[in-house]
Amino acid sequence: MIIVLKNSITKEEAKEFSVFIAQYGIKSIPIYGEMSTVLGLVGDTSKIDIEQITRLSYVERAIRVQEPFKQVSRRFHPKTIIVEVGNVRFGSEEIYVMAGPCSVENRTQLDIIADGVVKSGAKVLRGGTFKPRSSPYAFQGLKLEGIALMKEQKQKHNIPIISELTNINFLDAFLEDVDIIQIGARSMQNFEMLKEIGQTQKPVLLKRGFSNTIDELLMSAEYIVNGGNKNVLLCERGIRTFETRTRNTLDISAVPLLKQLSPLPVIVDPSHAAGRVDLIESLTLASIAAGADGLLIEVHNEPAKALSDGAQSLTLDAFDEIMKKAKVIAKAVGRRL
Ligand code: PEP
Ligand code: MN
Repeated sequence: MIIVLKNSITKEEAKEFSVFIAQYGIKSIPIYGEMSTVLGLVGDTSKIDIEQITRLSYVERAIRVQEPFKQVSRRFHPKTIIVEVGNVRFGSEEIYVMAGPCSVENRTQLDIIADGVVKSGAKVLRGGTFKPRSSPYAFQGLKLEGIALMKEQKQKHNIPIISELTNINFLDAFLEDVDIIQIGARSMQNFEMLKEIGQTQKPVLLKRGFSNTIDELLMSAEYIVNGGNKNVLLCERGIRTFETRTRNTLDISAVPLLKQLSPLPVIVDPSHAAGRVDLIESLTLASIAAGADGLLIEVHNEPAKALSDGAQSLTLDAFDEIMKKAKVIAKAVGRRL
């Protein structure tokens, strides 16, 4: 439920109201706007009599929120939330590209890729080291050794790094060294992990599960925000459909829809959506045109030899070309890249 309070509310009335709300055992989150103060009530508000509340002299109006997600709803939080990571401000006018290999393989590979993507304008380095592979026989990642290699690049280029966390036991290591924790499609509904991350202030990129709806993605984000961590980036990375020409189907509508529904910044991963390198440019440009606040793109110095996701990994030259076009589209839609 959302309660809009009149500006004329006195301190005594505000106190009286908070006592009234507290008796229902409900969490009340104040959102201070320029024109009015809004209270977001989270919990079981079914017993609250909305008519009774509306009759209070200092209440402008009370609205029931039908959606199961509250704190990640624009109704609760009309202004876009800016997620800051160093100099990067997701949700601002600028669009940021996060790029790098699917998996960190060795120091030389990462060094070449990091040099290349930074030169082409990537603002965050991506690199997976805990890899959630469909087959147990596929390369599982360098784990903490890979995080150490990512950290070297972070220091060399002075840019933030993003990497996927698959096991909460490694949270402390990630809190120490990683700037954005990636929650993969397969972990989107690992609610215990989401709750733990919600207790921190670490920026999180939450990927949509390949069989999950937009509402389910937002409910997962709610788990994190409900713990007190508002630094959540929503990521569309393609969903499973009947189509077999692509690895997944990029749900481009999710971009404007998520932005309408939620104040959280929206990121698109065209690499896992397409699964093939020849579509990445079109999907990147379409995502920017649709309003994405950032992109997550896989790049490899030798895609044919990549230990994971080579078929969808751009060469450094192809990435550079796409970045040039991306800048033009960003400008055309009133953004910067
Ligand atoms: C990845 O980013 O390499 C990855 C495994 O992504 P997803 O969780 O979207 O499959
Ligand atoms: Mn990958």
